[in-house]
Amino acid sequence: MKENMVVDNNKKDKKTVALTGDRPTGPLHLGHYVGSLANRLVLQESYTQYVMIADVQALTDYYENPEKVRENVLQVACDYLAVGIDPLKTTIFIQSCIPQIAELTVFYLNLVTVNRLKRNPTVKNEIVQRGYKENLTAGFLCYPVSQAADITFIKAQVIPVGEDQLPMIEQTNEIVRSFNRIYGAEVFVEAEALVAKIARLPGTDGSAKMGKSLGNAIFLSDPTDVVVKKVMSMYTDPLHLKVADPGKVEGNTVFMYLDIFDKNQEEVSQLKEHYRRGGLGDVVLKKRLIEVLEQFLTPLREKRTLLMNDKEQVMRILKDGTQKTEEEAEKTMQEVRSVMKLDYFK
Ligand code: ATP
Ligand code: MG
Repeated sequence: MKENMVVDNNKKDKKTVALTGDRPTGPLHLGHYVGSLANRLVLQESYTQYVMIADVQALTDYYENPEKVRENVLQVACDYLAVGIDPLKTTIFIQSCIPQIAELTVFYLNLVTVNRLKRNPTVKNEIVQRGYKENLTAGFLCYPVSQAADITFIKAQVIPVGEDQLPMIEQTNEIVRSFNRIYGAEVFVEAEALVAKIARLPGTDGSAKMGKSLGNAIFLSDPTDVVVKKVMSMYTDPLHLKVADPGKVEGNTVFMYLDIFDKNQEEVSQLKEHYRRGGLGDVVLKKRLIEVLEQFLTPLREKRTLLMNDKEQVMRILKDGTQKTEEEAEKTMQEVRSVMKLDYFK
């Protein structure tokens, strides 16, 4: 993959906490890698990093399907370890096992208006995508508040996320400012989103974002035949009907992926020229993309198979990480309860 890093490693500081998470609504895909995982691999070298499997957030739209969420906790954990998230450098934990996050969420709900929640552009978009109307739940509408608790309970300052998460960080910082002002103490610090240069990988269908729930994702765990099928049916230029026709490069998903994943950008430039001129078929391009993706995915798949065969080890890593996180969470909550005058029995 091309250089996609935005972390300034000169600012190395083990005291700075980085946090991100993923919803266990499916295994992780190329969009996660580009938008967030690649950054986390660098961050773990220089910061104190926590990575959260956001099962509570997954339940906001999968509450009727708890088995799916449960199964995907393991899938997501295996994806982390397969891409190189190192449990010795990064603490991985499960959101629902940290009750302090839920407690903090309840306190934060008083600091946000319903109107503000309805204005969050990412949530607005997701409400449309999921077809929610009168059946929109309070849990879904309020998930950015829970996310503010996720970020702040551990006092995270650096959040390596995709572009869709910027409104969440903005909302988190509003809550941080309100909390500190109302309770008269600098308990929390504002967080900074660390957005990758390629902030959003489009879906294989050409839509703006690859998403696990959108049916347009290439998963890190997809076997070769599935990758081949997905790439072969990828969106290109709908007006490029015959090989001889001139084709459009802009908005052509195959080229967008080649731009990101192909190490030989000189050849990609030549292919673009040829495609624009006409005489270059989609199949040639797609075959090249398959090869490029296979090179990237093969070692991940191998590591992942080993991990899936040792689920106990993976669960042990999650348990240790969760225990460690809970201790930190309790420290923050003691401060919170104290400034909120809730420390009755100290
Ligand atoms: P869902 O469809 O269930 O919401 P998702 O694919 O959006 O799943 P999340 O777990 O919501 O995945 O997102 C986890 C992280 O990955 C976030 O930081 C998000 O910004 C990033 N991310 C997800 N999809 C992409 C993408 N297509 N491009 C870049 N970053 C992405
Ligand atoms: Mg999402």
